[in-house]
Amino acid sequence: MTLTMSQRSAHYTTSPIRELLKLTEQPGMISLAGGLPAPESFPVQALRAACVDVLDTQAQGALQYGPSEGIAPLREWVAAHLRAQGIEAQTDEVLITSGSQQGLDLVGRVLIDPGSIVLVERPTYLGALQAFAPYGPRFADLDEDAGGALPTLDDPAHRDARMVYLQPNFRNPTGQTMTAARRSQWAQALRGRPIALVEDNPYGELWFDAPPPAPVAAQLPGQSLVLGTFSKVLSPGLRLGYVHGPQEVIAKMALARQAADLQTSSLTQRLVLKVLEGGLLDAQLPHIRALYRAQRDAMLAALSRHMPGSVHWETPQGGMFIWLSLPPGADATALLPLALQRKVAYVPGTAFYAAGAVPRNTLRLSYATATPAQIETAIARLGEVFSATHPPEPRHAPSVLAA
Ligand code: PMP
Repeated sequence: MTLTMSQRSAHYTTSPIRELLKLTEQPGMISLAGGLPAPESFPVQALRAACVDVLDTQAQGALQYGPSEGIAPLREWVAAHLRAQGIEAQTDEVLITSGSQQGLDLVGRVLIDPGSIVLVERPTYLGALQAFAPYGPRFADLDEDAGGALPTLDDPAHRDARMVYLQPNFRNPTGQTMTAARRSQWAQALRGRPIALVEDNPYGELWFDAPPPAPVAAQLPGQSLVLGTFSKVLSPGLRLGYVHGPQEVIAKMALARQAADLQTSSLTQRLVLKVLEGGLLDAQLPHIRALYRAQRDAMLAALSRHMPGSVHWETPQGGMFIWLSLPPGADATALLPLALQRKVAYVPGTAFYAAGAVPRNTLRLSYATATPAQIETAIARLGEVFSATHPPEPRHAPSVLAA
């Protein structure tokens, strides 16, 4: 008996990154593929103490159902955190989510109709494309220059857009940061148009030399949805994130999420609130920044040593990723099996393009998880793979991606 699945279900396709993550569990593999936070950054002791404290003092609330919007003091903490970045945020404009990935799905649910035009950076976060796609948008790519994506809202292909999805800080996958001037241009271009700004900011706290410029949303009150997460600064396993936006949109998202999961875990919210109130982020962030900075430096040094002159990259000022461009004609997807044979994993860049021509010569490297010694070994091996003659174009996707 073959069961009939919805047309929407056809949009839920395999993610190359998730498939790669399975392979990277092989013994001896050095993965530069997933954007996994460094395990040594997890605040195990603080979370253990908070867990005991929460169960000792507020077990009734922590183990009970709670509000779909999230518990009030955590929503207030988030609102204050956003106000410190210049965003006019009130408690009832914040929805606590099970990771910002859920926030992206909720954005899709309440903002996108079939055929709605969604403007995206080029390349952009694969998980956002996956979250939006089931709701039937037409993706339109934004051109960019050194300042970031260009606010070309007078372009006939862009002017009727429903929303624009931007990651101004240390973008996944390229590591780029949008300049302050470009942020202002975006706010100015969007102001007064019925286009929502969806500003995704998981990496903003992971800066190396100086904090990034203020969010675009700070200049665009009432028209912006801002997504944040505790995944990259505390732990992704907690599954705790948030969305801030106009109250009526947030209220609708809270109703939409009731259909999916009712609420984010009461225990996790109290646990995280406890460590936040104890000042854990202020204590922890300088260490995470120093750790990732050292790993970024190790990767940049290894790239300079081992990559052929035809390979290019930029220096990220924060976040987890370096974006590599191989010479035109090279195919990062076709080269991946050779890298995997040498026990190194990366993500081919093709996964991150929503529309338009897809360059095949780019790839994403993460410096967040591997140690400097592993990074050196992995980049030396990749240097050998990328220096060898490029194999012919594959007629079909390699099995690793088709798996
Ligand atoms: N947005 C971006 C740009 C990301 O890179 C990620 C995680 N890779 C997410 C959202 C989702 O993160 P989480 O659900 O863990 O908060």
